[in-house]
Amino acid sequence: MTGKLAPDPMPSGTMSGTPQVLLTHHLKQLKLPTVLREYDKVARECARDGIDHPGYLLRLIELERIDRERRTVERRIRAARFPAVKSFDTFDFTAIPGLNKILVLELARCEYILRRENIIALGNSGTGKTHVALALGLAACQKGFSVTFTTAASLVNQLMEARDERRLLRMQRDLQTTKLLIIDELGYVPMSPTAAELLFETFSQRYERGSTIVTSNLPFEDWTSVLGSERLTGALLDRLTHHVSILTMNGDSYRLKQSAGRRRAAAGAAQNQATRDTVDPNTGEITTN
Ligand code: ADP
Ligand code: MG
Repeated sequence: MTGKLAPDPMPSGTMSGTPQVLLTHHLKQLKLPTVLREYDKVARECARDGIDHPGYLLRLIELERIDRERRTVERRIRAARFPAVKSFDTFDFTAIPGLNKILVLELARCEYILRRENIIALGNSGTGKTHVALALGLAACQKGFSVTFTTAASLVNQLMEARDERRLLRMQRDLQTTKLLIIDELGYVPMSPTAAELLFETFSQRYERGSTIVTSNLPFEDWTSVLGSERLTGALLDRLTHHVSILTMNGDSYRLKQSAGRRRAAAGAAQNQATRDTVDPNTGEITTN
């Protein structure tokens, strides 16, 4: 988008339409869809409430602003490529008492992004690391920051592909410009030396330029087993942890707890059912008492 308006194919002052048709045309050109949709209704409301012209215009323009902000947030969310949209509204902090709730809610205000600081969430599988990373990503989109979500495996695959296709610099530039880069699941797959080098370059290029969130099931001392080289791991951690908040998320797997809960509930229901049902020994028919 250049920001310039295309030449108006239907100049005002022609006899080609009624004022409404021209107004519709101009509002579309000016990209004011909410004004177009609402102007008539708001005019009737303002007439009813005795609101003057500036008041009418203010109401209409405020509606457009609110709608535009919502559309922009939606666009940012789509651009972030979240695998799912999750928020803190659905996150149960009591399920993971070891997690510093005050720190997480403070981070949800996104000031760390202005300070270009990083976040690392460490813990075993199923403890909500991805959920928290997604919720922080969503909060960032809502606060006006550009966000990119990826997994470590997918990121290094894309970087290697870009390198093979001679578009690595462009991809690295894109990764540098996003305000918040979320790299999920570092540690599940060991990396080749080239992959580790490319991942290191990503951190290095973002150092003090933008915020990065990393989630991992491995404690720092085991990162060498993923990145292969002790020297590279040291240098990577040095950059990543210079300005960082660490979220420790060890505990029972929420997934396992939920499915155990469901199994218990199902077993309980089956038992209840069994005590209430009687089976006719002749027909095999079940009757519920
Ligand atoms: P991890 O990334 O640590 O392996 P996830 O974030 O993928 O764990 O969590 C597994 C599932 O459990 C997801 O559906 C997530 O939304 C849910 N979940 C985990 N922890 C919580 C929690 N404390 N409150 C609500 N849902 C949770
Ligand atoms: Mg995860």
